[in-house]
Amino acid sequence: MFDLLIKGGTLPDGTVSDIAIAGDRIAATGRVEGDASEVIDATGDLVSPPFVDPHFHMDATLSYGLPRVNASGTLLEGISLWGELREIATVDEMIARALTYCDWAASMGLLAIRTHVDTTPDHLRGVEAMLEVKRRVAGYIDLQLVAFPQDGLYRTKTGRENVIRALDMGVDVVGGIPHFERTMEEGAESMRDLCRISAERGLMIDVHCDETDDPMSRHVETLAREVTRHGLGGRAAGSHLTSMHSMDNYYVSKLLPLIAESGMTAIPNPLINITLQGRHDTYPKRRGLTRVKEMQAHGITVGWGQDCVLDPWYSLGTADMLDVAFMGLHVAQMTHPEEMARCFRMVTEDNARIMGLEGYGLNKGDVASLVILDAGNPTEALRLRAERLAVVSKGKVISRRSRNDARLALADRPGTVRRRYGVPKP
Ligand SMILES: [Zn+2]
Repeated sequence: MFDLLIKGGTLPDGTVSDIAIAGDRIAATGRVEGDASEVIDATGDLVSPPFVDPHFHMDATLSYGLPRVNASGTLLEGISLWGELREIATVDEMIARALTYCDWAASMGLLAIRTHVDTTPDHLRGVEAMLEVKRRVAGYIDLQLVAFPQDGLYRTKTGRENVIRALDMGVDVVGGIPHFERTMEEGAESMRDLCRISAERGLMIDVHCDETDDPMSRHVETLAREVTRHGLGGRAAGSHLTSMHSMDNYYVSKLLPLIAESGMTAIPNPLINITLQGRHDTYPKRRGLTRVKEMQAHGITVGWGQDCVLDPWYSLGTADMLDVAFMGLHVAQMTHPEEMARCFRMVTEDNARIMGLEGYGLNKGDVASLVILDAGNPTEALRLRAERLAVVSKGKVISRRSRNDARLALADRPGTVRRRYGVPKP
């Protein structure tokens, strides 16, 4: 007797399989016989492991317009607005906004999130709030917190000290922002310092790295070197890496093998990078997305991150990782069927690998978390940004939604429209 049985769904690789769940684990797959307390018929629908977001800012989410909107649309105005907001936002307000966002995430099948938490202010209210949110959502969302010195590790008096304090309070991951330090040299030193801290404490590290259009911002080189030196491998990630878009091709031909050698991963954030970067350009205007396909061709794990929803940096956002992958697909021109399927894997499997999630997947013994989508395959899910018909987290159905077919009133045409259409399998 199983607790839950998902019948006849199509998995991302195209196989049709039942999934039987007992407690919080997948107990059987394939053709499953036997009873279950609850049965969901997923025939013809896509059953996927849950969506994962490896780059987010939950301390700032849903604060759009506070204290005012970002009029220039630039990264720097966003940072300055946030500098005001973090001084007036209370712990309770941050918790309430983050919990609302987590409701959205749960409904979209987004069940693991790595969020950077600003450690700049000495009061560390953001850290306090996010630790509480992590505890409250633990039953349905896995939250990883990054100690993020937004205003620089060395650029403020207590920048470094506060990162250490946050780690001591229980924050999981070491963060940094080398391109925001006063000089290139101090940026490079921050990479050496933070990788050492990460190695000594046995923690993962995820750095906002070279989020600039300046082709001479080359901190990713130092990051890769230090990751190799300390053997951090896949426990290290470089977020954004947008300067790589503007770098000289010859230099990049040396850089990519160094990143690959280190084993570190990369997290571009296409919704934000396409919006914030290139703001100093007239025309031609740079796209501001890092070299995704080129990194993947070197065997580097690249995931898509969301970064922001309704905050000082981004005025939109829905907690839908298919939106993120959809934008990434366009900006990186990943339009071959294999590349489109890759984009879906980037917001599921690849992101799970970046976050080091255990028991992630749809095999027997894995954690029983999954999402059922109103789509026939991953590419169709991307095209439609498909509805999440059901979301299961750790063995429990936490969200349901009915199909959203339109009802047509046209002579000699079908009565309903779903917009699903067979597309060639990759
Ligand atoms: Zn960020």
